[in-house]
Amino acid sequence: MKLIYRLHNLLFPPKCVLCRKLLTDAETDLCHSCRADTPEHPHSRIKLPYIAQWTALWYYEGTVRSSLLRFKFRNARSYGQIYGRLLAMKLLQEQSEYDLLTWVPISRRRKWSRGYDQVSLIAQAVGQELCRPPIAMLKKDRNNPPQSGFPNAARRRANVLGVYKAIDPQQCAGKRILLLDDIITTGATAGECARVLLTAGAKEVHCAAVAAAPHQRKEQ
Ligand SMILES: [Zn+2]
Repeated sequence: MKLIYRLHNLLFPPKCVLCRKLLTDAETDLCHSCRADTPEHPHSRIKLPYIAQWTALWYYEGTVRSSLLRFKFRNARSYGQIYGRLLAMKLLQEQSEYDLLTWVPISRRRKWSRGYDQVSLIAQAVGQELCRPPIAMLKKDRNNPPQSGFPNAARRRANVLGVYKAIDPQQCAGKRILLLDDIITTGATAGECARVLLTAGAKEVHCAAVAAAPHQRKEQ
């Protein structure tokens, strides 16, 4: 197993997930400068609709933004493992408590065209680290236009309203759920997922994402 791992590293030398510099033997997931210089997102006190508490690793800007764009649109699916590992560490530090782990899904059509459901990869990695396998609790039936096309919060809320369904409401009953997402911009998508889970009987919904829009910084 170790030999396979070494061979893999020889063929695909590990790179920093943010700046893409080759990592030294002393570095894991991120290079020293990205680890030191990328502003960490604090545990947020900003209220997002239907979400009890939320957190994110970084702000969605600079190398974080480019990294997430490669992850979502350029097939850098291996980043999911790294984002998930870093997010799990942050969740452990924050000692957030919840019963179930799930994620914001994409539609079947989007999954078919992209080849992977990117947030489920993050959720699997978080689940591995926290020894709590994620459960698919939501499905997205409608392939609505991407949220990035709607800069205004009200339009974004309208664009996601009713597009998610709870797969099995019995799973949610009385549970504190951690919902994973890749990017939080206005919170419309995560909020709509949380609303559906609460309507299905969840006790509360927490959210954790890789990045949050930098405009949230002013309001911390
Ligand atoms: Zn780096």
